[in-house]
Order: sequence, then C-alpha cells, then structure tokens
Amino acid sequence: MKSRNPWEVALMQFDQAADRLELDSYIRERLKRPKRILTVNFPVRMDDGTIRMFEGYRVHHNVDRGPAKGGIRYHPDVTLDEVKALAMWMTWKCAVVNVPFGGAKGGVICDPHKMSIGEIERLTRRYTTEISFFIGPEKDIPAPDVNTNAQTMAWIMDTYSMNVGYSVPHVVTGKPVEIGGSEGRIEATARGCVFTILKACEFLGLPINKAKVAIQGYGNAGYNVARLIKKEGAKVIAVSDSKGGIYNEEGLNPEDVMRHKKETGSVIDFPEAKNITNKELLELDCEILVPAALENQIDENNAHKIKARIIAEAANGPTTPEADKILFSRGIFIIPDILANAGGVTVSYFEWVQDLQAFFWKEQDVNLKLKEVMESSFDNVLEIFKKEKDIDMRTAAYMLAIKRVAKAVQLRGLYP
Ligand code: NAD
Repeated sequence: MKSRNPWEVALMQFDQAADRLELDSYIRERLKRPKRILTVNFPVRMDDGTIRMFEGYRVHHNVDRGPAKGGIRYHPDVTLDEVKALAMWMTWKCAVVNVPFGGAKGGVICDPHKMSIGEIERLTRRYTTEISFFIGPEKDIPAPDVNTNAQTMAWIMDTYSMNVGYSVPHVVTGKPVEIGGSEGRIEATARGCVFTILKACEFLGLPINKAKVAIQGYGNAGYNVARLIKKEGAKVIAVSDSKGGIYNEEGLNPEDVMRHKKETGSVIDFPEAKNITNKELLELDCEILVPAALENQIDENNAHKIKARIIAEAANGPTTPEADKILFSRGIFIIPDILANAGGVTVSYFEWVQDLQAFFWKEQDVNLKLKEVMESSFDNVLEIFKKEKDIDMRTAAYMLAIKRVAKAVQLRGLYP
C-alpha cells in the first residue's frame, strides 16, 4: 500500500515550511540533501546451509546539532528513498523536542517473519560489521524500528564492542536494561504519544474518558498506546496488524489482545471482537485515530472518510501531503509524527546520557522528564500553530524544527 515515495513526501513537507520561513536558499539546498548515504550488500549463512545476499542502508541526514540518531528497520519493502525520508524526519524530530542529535536511519531488505532467530542474529551481526565505521557513540547511534527490538540492539552493541575490543553500550539505544538500557525506553514512544494526545484533548476540550480510540498497527508503538491510553480512561474500540483488524464498540482489553496475538500470530479472530479490514479501521467512528504501522496509510482516497477528531501519528509518515490538505480543510487536528512519536528518541537520548555517565535513573524519573519534554514541545508547536492561523500542526512543527537546525548550520559556519 506504499502509494507515495516517502522521500518525495518528506521534501514536500520541508518545502512547505521552508517557504513559510523564507529560508535562506543555501541552507534550504543543504537541508534537502542527506549528508551521507551508505549502501551495503552482504552475505548471511541460512539455516539450510545456503548463503543469501542482503542489501542494507544507513543514511545520515544532518549532524549539525549533534551525532546522528535513528532506528533500524527490517522489512521486505525497505528502499533507499524510504530510509532517506526516515533519516530526514529524525533530524526534525530531534529538533522539535530539542534533543542534541541529528537525523539518521537504517534499513535492511528482508522478511524477518520468514527467518529463524539464528538467521536474524547473523544478519544483524554482519550488517552491524558492514556499517561499523559509519556508526559510533559520538557519530551515529542506532535504535529499534519496525521488526527490530531490544534483542536486536543487544546484538548490535555486542558486535560493535567485539570489533573495537571493549564494551560500548552507548553505541545503540533501546537495549535491554541489563546491558545499559534505560528504564521506560520500551514504552517511551507510546507514552510520549499519549502525553501529546492528552494535551490535544485539553486544547480541543475533548474529555479523554469519553474518547473512542482506533489504533492501526499492534507492535511496540501501537500496543503500548492501547495500554496507556486505556489507563487514561479512553476506550480502545479497534486495533489491527498487517493481517487485519478487530473491532468491539464496548472496548478491547489490550493485554488480552496481545496474548491472543502471541498465541495465533495476529490480532484477528480475537474472540470478543469482530474482524475488520485496516481500511475500515481508519474510517471508524471514533475521536482519536492512531496510525502506528507504516507510511502512506491516510491519502487522498480515504482522508475525506476519516471521522476522528484527532490523528496522533505514532508511525512515521502515515499521512500524505494530499491527505494533509483534506484533513486540514475538515478541521481534523493532526499531531504530526515528528512530535507525536518523539518520545522514543527523547528516552533514547536519556539512555545515551545515562550510559555516558554510567549512572542510571529510576523509571519514574525517566517518565517525568519525558512528560516535561513532550508537553513543552507540544506547547511550542501549538504556539506557532495558533500564531500563524492558516497552517496545520505539521507545518508548525516543521517550522520550529527547521529554524533550530538552520540556526545551528548558520552558527557553525562554513568549513573550510
Ligand atoms: P513493530 O515492528 O513493533 O510493529 C509494527 C506493527 O505494524 C505490527 O503490529 C505489524 O503487524 C503492523 N503492520 C505492518 N504493516 C501493516 C499494515 N500494512 N497495516 C496495518 N498494520 C501493519 O514496529 P514499531 O516500532 O511499533 O513501529 C511502528 C511505527 O512507529 C513505524 O512507523 C515506526 O517508524 C514508528 N516509530 C517507532 C518507534 C519505536 O521506538 N519503536 C519510534 C518512533 C516511531
């Protein structure tokens, strides 16, 4: 369903905000280009003894505000343009929440659902070795994304450490707590997203305990949003994964649905719900819609059918620029990805800081600091949104981010 090239989407979003800011033409040209692109082709021994070649990427979009930072995705549909877009979005995301990192992203074209755990480990270790000169705790710090998790990060950390000869925990974030991960990192993306939803509800005068919520995608981001928003009193009426969705207007129990997904491989056929398609989920009668899967889910074909009052983009790039226009004209309030899902990179930053100091914080301290960052970032974006009057929250967030990155570029000057 990837109808739109994500890199073109990222450039269109950038241009719209850059026009509004009347951005200097050199800085504009510079920020439209990824700083570095690495493509690697590498072999992996499969369980049946055959050797398969895989292609992977790591892209640094910008490093003017600090080391590059961004997740690694394993998916059959990974493309270089997708990784470039995701890297650029990371630059803006770090700037929106004022975390001192630049933007990066990585991806490997593979289908981990069709691979054994041993094959995934060997792929991870070889990919890490291939990109090892490109990453590092002061250069580029990977993290989990679609189909990668804390275990993947542990393998990356171990492989990098083996190659340099000593343990380097801060080369990745999203690691298990036992080897230098941060408390609260696993749910951080979702927790941050829920903080922004609560702020949006407050702004719009929408009581959270009366809100019906539909969530597309039931992985790290989607499942944890379901769990945390239910705790706030909202009713989670529908969730989905790549195989389809489920709906119960009385509300679902997120933990029970996850148990069912673990047992059967999908949320579908959950006993206390009716099966629906992913398309139907997006168009449900609800107050809050949370896309938490992949890009281009809301486009010009379905934007006019969406009934939610708030769209909180836990996923990166779920809405096309064409859909943005339609949603804006219909008064639907978007919490854009570079704000809504920035809780992940915020706690990744906390993890990196803790690793550097070898001094670890309690989960409640992490969550409290995350709350402060998410709420003040939301307020900063909302202020621009209100001041400018005729722009959506995405453009407001881009304006804030681009201004901060442009200032860093300008202050650092031109070398040589
Ligand atoms: P994940 O691999 O844990 O989960 C992805 C989920 O999406 C799975 O349930 C999968 O079945 C579902 N899915 C895949 N294709 C789908 C489709 N076509 N329709 C419906 N569902 C589909 O990944 P994640 O970490 O939860 O990432 C989800 C999104 O959140 C991505 O866009 C990612 O870039 C973004 N994100 C994640 C983090 C993080 O910390 N994990 C941080 C920021 C943004």
